[in-house]
Amino acid sequence: MDKRLLVNTAHVRGHGTNIGGELAPQVFEIDKVDRLRSSSPLHYSLHVRIVEQSLLVQGTLECNLQCECDRCLCEYDQSIEINNVCHYFEIPGDKIVDITDEIREDILIMFPQKYLCSAECMGLCPSCGRNRNAEDCQCENNESVVDVWSQLNELEL
Ligand SMILES: [Zn+2]
Ligand SMILES: [Zn+2]
Repeated sequence: MDKRLLVNTAHVRGHGTNIGGELAPQVFEIDKVDRLRSSSPLHYSLHVRIVEQSLLVQGTLECNLQCECDRCLCEYDQSIEINNVCHYFEIPGDKIVDITDEIREDILIMFPQKYLCSAECMGLCPSCGRNRNAEDCQCENNESVVDVWSQLNELEL
């Protein structure tokens, strides 16, 4: 799998050329810090065209992230898609344009700031450590359980 995305402008036809493929996930330089575990390859589907001696690159980028939830620590997948890629590049003497950095920056900006398996994730109980998405626990500071019991009491009255 490619680590750099190079466009040979000598091969770009007058009305433009479509290029598609995958870049190795190493392009994101993900360390095992944070809640981001890994990524699929970066899929690109681009239209490249020469406009007034510059290279115009437009199209779509896509990747799938494997993350760990901030609240419940479960692993989940999140896909990211960008369909408004648009960059101009100067064409160097050797006609080869390396567009890797711009493409990578486009998609890195869309990486999540917070990692949540769902917006409603209830996380782990701070007392017993149970995953409150999967099971209720009887801990007193578990507000959702307290609420359920108080509602039941009201029904019985
Ligand atoms: Zn979660
Ligand atoms: Zn608990």
